[in-house]
Amino acid sequence: MDSRPRVILHADMNCFYAAVECLHRPELRDKPVVVGGHEELRHGIVLAKNLMAKRCGVKTAMSLVEARHICPELVTIPPDYNLYMRFSRMARSIYYDYTDLVEPFGPDEAWLDVTGSAHLWGGDAYLMACEISERVKAELGVTISIGISWNKVFAKFGSDYQKPDAITVITPDNYRQIVWQAPVEELLYVGRATKHKLNASAVFTIGELAIEDPRLLVNKFGKIGPMLQYFALGEDITPVKVLDPQTSQVDYDIKSIGNGLTAPHDILTRRDARLLISLLSESVAQRLREQRLKARTICISVRDAADLTYYTRQAPLPRASNITNEIAQAAFELLCANEPLDGSHAIRTMGVRAADLQNVSAPLQLDIFGDEEKRASLERLDITIDDLRRRFGNNIVRRAVALGDEQMTPLDIQRDNVIHPVGFLNS
Ligand SMILES: [Mg+2]
Repeated sequence: MDSRPRVILHADMNCFYAAVECLHRPELRDKPVVVGGHEELRHGIVLAKNLMAKRCGVKTAMSLVEARHICPELVTIPPDYNLYMRFSRMARSIYYDYTDLVEPFGPDEAWLDVTGSAHLWGGDAYLMACEISERVKAELGVTISIGISWNKVFAKFGSDYQKPDAITVITPDNYRQIVWQAPVEELLYVGRATKHKLNASAVFTIGELAIEDPRLLVNKFGKIGPMLQYFALGEDITPVKVLDPQTSQVDYDIKSIGNGLTAPHDILTRRDARLLISLLSESVAQRLREQRLKARTICISVRDAADLTYYTRQAPLPRASNITNEIAQAAFELLCANEPLDGSHAIRTMGVRAADLQNVSAPLQLDIFGDEEKRASLERLDITIDDLRRRFGNNIVRRAVALGDEQMTPLDIQRDNVIHPVGFLNS
């Protein structure tokens, strides 16, 4: 193993969607602009804003109605994902000139492990970052912020620390002054719920998290606690994962992805079952997308509330998919084929699992079903939702089906510790 300290860059395109739109419409440059609105989301929300809109107080994920209320002259542009994806690919192709180890994080961010190539810039990653930043500006017409550090978490922190169009180096000498002074929620993976819990234990800064009693963290957060503390200490050793199969071999040795959940109350009706299936499918599909995988088989597992007996059923999908709606639909049909859901039989626990996985770039047979356009639009919706959740937490966007149940809706499948990843589903 390489024993050199790692050199990791995190590059983040500033106000990405809005910047790309303004590039195409120079007349908008001096106006407050937001990209937002999606016919499939129940209310349009702000997906991105430019600096002018930001100065008016417009915030990402705010409803468009609210945004227009505080900023009446706001210009609203519907999102054009194909355009953004093209810019995303162009940025990445610049990054690949500096290293093969590029891990995209949403459409506008990426980590670059440049440990093996920094010597070409005299060992000065700052010079390399300057060049990358200049090239993105010249070739794409948008600005980026770059963080440089020896680990991914601090590099990401650095790219957020100064923006737009800035470079921040976090070193073993300065991280206590820069990172440790910052509010704890600025650490990657500290979401709103975790922030509140930490604040309740008088942990307000990243530095306070770093020196908190580890036993206390285990008690409060389980395994996540020590992990966050490692991150705060700069001891994140997670590698930059190469996700682009065209550039590098990726380890697809994942056999299946699943989640199980014990509902806050027993499941008796079609409506409750549908809700739970939809929550579970959402998180399974999201994880498939993160791993750039699609599933060909969907499995469900059901535990009886009365005698706790347990069974599983599986069915093939018509086409390999990581689309939330398709996975939820298949899982729900499977359940309906096996359960009355008329109030006569109570279910305690349910699981959804995706199996028979394949790489997303595996060849697709098009047009047999004639609904490729609809599927493409569902895929784009999923990408948008993933992006919003990654930034603002899982509960920022909820599917229509998940609204209206007071006990179910506060469940945050990926964050709350009600998931049974091993014992329950590995039958
Ligand atoms: Mg950005």
